[in-house]
Amino acid sequence: MSGVFVYSDSPKLAAELVGLAQTLGDPVVLVSLGQVAPGLTTLGATQVLVLKSDDEVIENYSRPLAELLQERKAKALLVGDTIRGRDLAARVAGHCRAGMISGASHIAPDGGGFTAQRSTYGGKLIETGQVEELAVLTVGAGAATPLTVGGESPIDEVTVETDRRVILIERADAGGGQADLTTAPAVVGVGLGVSDQADLAQLEVLAKLLGGGVSCSRGVCEERGWFDQYIGVSGLNLSPDLYLAVGISGQIQHLYGVREAKLIAAVNINKDAPIFRNADYGIVGDYRSVVPQLIAALS
Ligand SMILES: Cc1cc2nc3c(=O)[nH]c(=O)nc-3n(C[C@H](O)[C@H](O)[C@H](O)COP(=O)(O)OP(=O)(O)OC[C@H]3O[C@@H](n4cnc5c(N)ncnc54)[C@H](O)[C@@H]3O)c2cc1C
Repeated sequence: MSGVFVYSDSPKLAAELVGLAQTLGDPVVLVSLGQVAPGLTTLGATQVLVLKSDDEVIENYSRPLAELLQERKAKALLVGDTIRGRDLAARVAGHCRAGMISGASHIAPDGGGFTAQRSTYGGKLIETGQVEELAVLTVGAGAATPLTVGGESPIDEVTVETDRRVILIERADAGGGQADLTTAPAVVGVGLGVSDQADLAQLEVLAKLLGGGVSCSRGVCEERGWFDQYIGVSGLNLSPDLYLAVGISGQIQHLYGVREAKLIAAVNINKDAPIFRNADYGIVGDYRSVVPQLIAALS
């Protein structure tokens, strides 16, 4: 079976990538690693291919996945552009000696391969690249619309031997009850304008009232260490219904990560902040007085 293969450890991204794969080739094979993940058979793929094993480390599946892609003459493997997705994709491309483009968008068939774009230099330039079949491409959220077709995809199970040099010892909750930001309908972004770490508690309350979670700009993550991940060209790419930027100036490298948000709102003390040029709604004011008012209104 040739066709376009899809894998993501994020169910929302997997659904979008099935929609994208359908525009690139037929059939669309949705890969599940270990066992059939819940909900995968209803996303509209031609087939769900399960690489069966009790190994919980997805990167350990890279060699058997690469072998199956070659055996089945896959045209492309689309992988959800998450931290672990990127890792898996790079290993699979290495095993297959395939061309790879990470953070790909605007993917189109081109002769015996594909062209794709990706942003570079912190979002200042767009590169267009070409890869031959078998191409490995990682794709972020918002690149395509999930299919709405009903029905169950047939399952093909293949028992595989994984590479067990990395084993999972423990999985622990990082605490905070943080929502999965890739699927959250709302995300509150914390910028360097938020001066006091104690204020994060209020921003989390606000995010919960909006039904979502909290993330941040790069400086808040790397300079202050308040979060493990940040939004942007070199960080998370999110597509919530609402992105509320609090104390964020609105540099292109940050906004790239929420370019697929349906609505952007901003709270900033400076009326000339660039974020207001990209926001659908803006409140000019000090977050320390605006955030409690928003909480009161939403409560
Ligand atoms: C190659 C490269 C890649 C990068 N990648 C990323 C990336 O992936 N993600 C990312 O986020 N950044 C990235 N950056 C950094 C980016 O260019 C910006 O420097 C960064 O996003 C700015 O973060 P900020 O908006 O939180 O802070 P600032 O730019 O310092 O803005 C703080 C804002 O808070 C406002 N403010 C201050 N006090 C208050 C208050 N009391 N109430 C309300 N508002 C207030 C200010 O008016 C200001 O607009 C990258 C940079 C480079 C060069």
